[in-house]
Amino acid sequence: MDYNSIRKTFLDYFESHGHKIVPSASLIPNDPTLLFTVAGMVPWKGILQGSEPAFAPRVADVQKCIRAGGKHNDLDEVGYDGRHHTFFEMMGNWSFGDYFKQGAIEMSWDLLTRVIGLDPNRIVITTHISDDDAANIWKKVSGKDTIKLGDKENWWSAGDTGPCGPCTEMHYIVDENNPDPDSRMVEIWNDVFMQFDRDANGNLTPLPKQNVDTGAGLERWAAILQGVRDNYDTDLFRNIILATQEVVGVKKNDENTPSFKVIADHLRAVGFAIADGVIPSNTDRGYVIRRILRRAMRHGQMLGHRGALLSKLYPVLIREMGDAYPELAAAEKRVVEIIQNEENSFADMLQNGMKLLDAELPKINNGVLSGDVAFKLFDTYGFPLDLTQMILRDKNISVDTDGFDRAMAAQKERSRADTKGTRTLWESQTQLHATDDVYKYAPDENMDSRVLAILRDGEFVQNASVGDVVEIALDKTNFYGTQGGQVGDMGEILRNGETVMTVTEAARANNIVIHKGTLTADVAVGDTVRTKINATVRQQTARAHTATHLLQAALQHVLNDDVAQRGSKVSPDSVRFDFTFGRPMTDDEKTAVEKLVNDWIAADMPVSHEEMPIEAARKRGAMALFGEKYGDVVRVITAGDASCELCGGTHVYHTGEIIKAKINKEKSISSGVRRITMSVGTLAE
Ligand SMILES: [Zn+2]
Repeated sequence: MDYNSIRKTFLDYFESHGHKIVPSASLIPNDPTLLFTVAGMVPWKGILQGSEPAFAPRVADVQKCIRAGGKHNDLDEVGYDGRHHTFFEMMGNWSFGDYFKQGAIEMSWDLLTRVIGLDPNRIVITTHISDDDAANIWKKVSGKDTIKLGDKENWWSAGDTGPCGPCTEMHYIVDENNPDPDSRMVEIWNDVFMQFDRDANGNLTPLPKQNVDTGAGLERWAAILQGVRDNYDTDLFRNIILATQEVVGVKKNDENTPSFKVIADHLRAVGFAIADGVIPSNTDRGYVIRRILRRAMRHGQMLGHRGALLSKLYPVLIREMGDAYPELAAAEKRVVEIIQNEENSFADMLQNGMKLLDAELPKINNGVLSGDVAFKLFDTYGFPLDLTQMILRDKNISVDTDGFDRAMAAQKERSRADTKGTRTLWESQTQLHATDDVYKYAPDENMDSRVLAILRDGEFVQNASVGDVVEIALDKTNFYGTQGGQVGDMGEILRNGETVMTVTEAARANNIVIHKGTLTADVAVGDTVRTKINATVRQQTARAHTATHLLQAALQHVLNDDVAQRGSKVSPDSVRFDFTFGRPMTDDEKTAVEKLVNDWIAADMPVSHEEMPIEAARKRGAMALFGEKYGDVVRVITAGDASCELCGGTHVYHTGEIIKAKINKEKSISSGVRRITMSVGTLAE
């Protein structure tokens, strides 16, 4: 039975038993304490704890889950056995105050033995020592005695207090003669009976509404039903591994199998997470996904492959899983673009970082890589700590993580001290040419630039070396340096096609664009280089900026024409907008503003970017900002018939590119001035 048939069989069974079938919830949970949806129950937590009403008494679904990062972490195990995954699918049926132990046990047994035809003699059942009800029901339903275990194995609770109860697990004997119980049996289903409320003194009171929460791992079912021991030998993974062989041009063998498994697993985690709106970044879940993606690239490299890998395999993921998860195909263009971007920016760093690491290896004599080297790999080459650890694991070398933490803390301290002084240092360079940055409006333009100045550790230098944290001024650039409330671009500086600097921020001092970041090669004043912005971040910022204009127009429509901008901060996919208005907005007003902005987005109006003399712009009625100085020639950004503003920022070309806008907060910041924070794009979705 293949994956698609198992999912269908499971859902069909519960639908015919009165369950409402719902699609998987997002991998981004509605729960700030979790990075990802880590189990099938996560979306139903509110209902199970009684804080949200149940929308149906019986529900069944197949939930996408990720366990990587934070306390739920299987990342390091993936690839080295047949059972670990960072991404997996959890099938589950739920009773919200409807059936309880009898119903749950009957259906589990019926589905396992009659419907999918597992051998009843190979099924082993455990129950909690206190739960005679469940043991008696099992005896009646299956004729079997259960194995009675303690709290560790068969008791579930969400925390020290609150809902809790016994559970019953079904295991399947896959390798009868294996003396190791973990290899002999596989857990295939867990039915949790949420029976009690536990108070602070440990007293158990029966819950007024008793719930059932079950979870069955789809990958394990597939392995059993397809008669294989290793989840990665099932149809879904076999097909992904076949496609990977094509892309890397190497066949799977005993030695390189872990790499193929890691790539197949990581393709699912990265692909599904980005399709659900995660954007690789340096924090939180964005960093988990970036780490997973970089690990996959390292395994591609071990197979002799260079450059893009997961972006090439994503269509295979759609082919294999797109029927069950239509969101994969719907987001294809965006996901591939984001992955490509990540892969492009890491490809050179991976090669160069490996060179550094190879040079360091002979110097290690106690089996421990120094924290400073690990930090240099992290800071200069973008190697997450766990990637370095993964690379060294095969060589039995560990990393001095305390030393790594110390180096990180020292770096933070340095950069805190740095940011204070550098603007004045740049402003003192009066002989320096203003940066020609018209190319910020033509980010794909390939032109040669010259390095004019390099600032390192508070001093202007002629040369700087790989690993140095520097600020660089060029004669020309495509980078948008922070200005007018819009944050600057990120990206790279290249020389002869090779990255020489990763730019984490483009700032401005007077008319000079300052590229801040870390060198990945030696650079000297006078070098000829090219600039390459991070297109994903640029697009996220552009849609936030155009959305800011729409927000201002919508506020004027809904509130009054006197609403005026007092300040703004436009970041990737997020907007902070300050405006004059004398009282809090009502909920109706907020809804109306948000709706108007989204109507304009849905109308996909063209956005024109024009340069014209300021008089012409005034005649057209373009809105200018209070207190802002404008030159003789100005840029006018016009979004359909909704908005026309003088603005030097970067914008989208159609309002539809904004995708969606969502107002998060509206509050007072000073007398007569209100602040709205808004998300756009995939973040708002
Ligand atoms: Zn603007």
